[in-house]
Amino acid sequence: MNGTKPRRAYVETYGCQMNISDGELMEGVLEGEGYEIVSSAEEADVILVNTCAIREHAERRVLGRVGQLSGLKRTNPDLVIGVTGCMAQRLGEGLLEKAPHVDLVMGPDGYRTLPEALARLRPLSGNARRLSVLHLTLDENYQGLEQRRRSTVGAWVPIQRGCDHRCTFCIVPYVRGAEKNRDPQEILGEIRRIADEGITEVTLLGQTVNSYVSGDWPFPRLLQAVARVDGIRRVRYTSPHPNDVTPDLVDVMAMEEAVCEHVHLPVQSGNDRTLKRMVRRYTVDSFMEKVAMIRQAMPKVALSTDIIVGFPGESESEFQDTLDLVREVRFDEAFTYKYSPREGTPATRLPPGQFVSDAEGQDRLERLIEVTRGIQAEINRAEVGTVVELLLERTGKHEGTVLGRTRRSKAVVVPGEASDAGRYVSALLTSTTGATFVAERLEAGKPLAGVS
Ligand code: SF4
Repeated sequence: MNGTKPRRAYVETYGCQMNISDGELMEGVLEGEGYEIVSSAEEADVILVNTCAIREHAERRVLGRVGQLSGLKRTNPDLVIGVTGCMAQRLGEGLLEKAPHVDLVMGPDGYRTLPEALARLRPLSGNARRLSVLHLTLDENYQGLEQRRRSTVGAWVPIQRGCDHRCTFCIVPYVRGAEKNRDPQEILGEIRRIADEGITEVTLLGQTVNSYVSGDWPFPRLLQAVARVDGIRRVRYTSPHPNDVTPDLVDVMAMEEAVCEHVHLPVQSGNDRTLKRMVRRYTVDSFMEKVAMIRQAMPKVALSTDIIVGFPGESESEFQDTLDLVREVRFDEAFTYKYSPREGTPATRLPPGQFVSDAEGQDRLERLIEVTRGIQAEINRAEVGTVVELLLERTGKHEGTVLGRTRRSKAVVVPGEASDAGRYVSALLTSTTGATFVAERLEAGKPLAGVS
């Protein structure tokens, strides 16, 4: 604390849900130390830009933003600017040189020491005021710390950090370290507290969330226990690795009423040679077996996926295999990307002649999007006329509307107002844009048997 006035901190987060969760964790840590969390950079004494390293373009954006924020030091010379997260870990001390107004560089395993780091920086000035905290540890899973959650509708609960895979396109293992799992009792205690606050939906988070294991608690056991916490009506998890989809997991999903009928299962490619070069550790056949296993246990399940096109060495016919897989599985939604090299990842060391040109990559991406969106629209059009249970999340784009989500994770717009957030209603789907639905509200609801 700074004499009588609490210090004010502002956290601005970029990137994936894990990073958003980390942003909430930093806010929790700082609030626990007496900081006031504010909602704009202009009010703050400490600004933390919590960054993502997945794409180069995200990094450039962050550097631009840091440059802009440094202008605030003109009126507030004591302002501390920190860059945290994956990009901070990737660039390390080089970031202090690249961005001279940055005072603190902190990687994803350093957040427990954030108050201490800020206290060390505070008395310093000018060039002396620079600190980097970049160690990755095998045991930092943020046990005992709690996030400052912003949403009152759903809660994201990290159960695992880091990743033991080495997919050749991915920077995550290098910036977040090896897989570390949290204690199951601590996770369950946190979810009970979340439920006591009136939040009814939780999403368990991890880089390969279903490889979670802690003592005699493999992921299916944890998922079942979470689904049985009083007050929790919806449980989701993301992102699973296909190899860790097991009969025990699909049994729990099928049996436990609270577990939603949606699985996000990243396939990345529909070609075995490409999968091997990506080191995804499964084949097209074994992926299809997992899909069949999930659908057999839960015929109404919605499946979504991630796909990368233009991975180095991918030929046109190998790309066609991906289109074939997509047509066969018929994903409800696909997040599609053109391969983008990340310095430090093994794929960047493939022979330069193998790199797919930007124009070709873009062309494949557009063709893939056409197919995936077409399938999504067909699936969704067939769902018009059905009744669904919605958890209302937030106001819609147009006045007098709210956005809700079905158990199968479909976005639906219904009439309503901001105060509806957190309520369950049943709704009749009346039309679709292809991706989202418009619906009529039927009644404020209890869970409806047999609806999606
Ligand atoms: S499983 Fe592969 S893609 Fe996912 S975080 Fe780990 S290395 Fe990256």
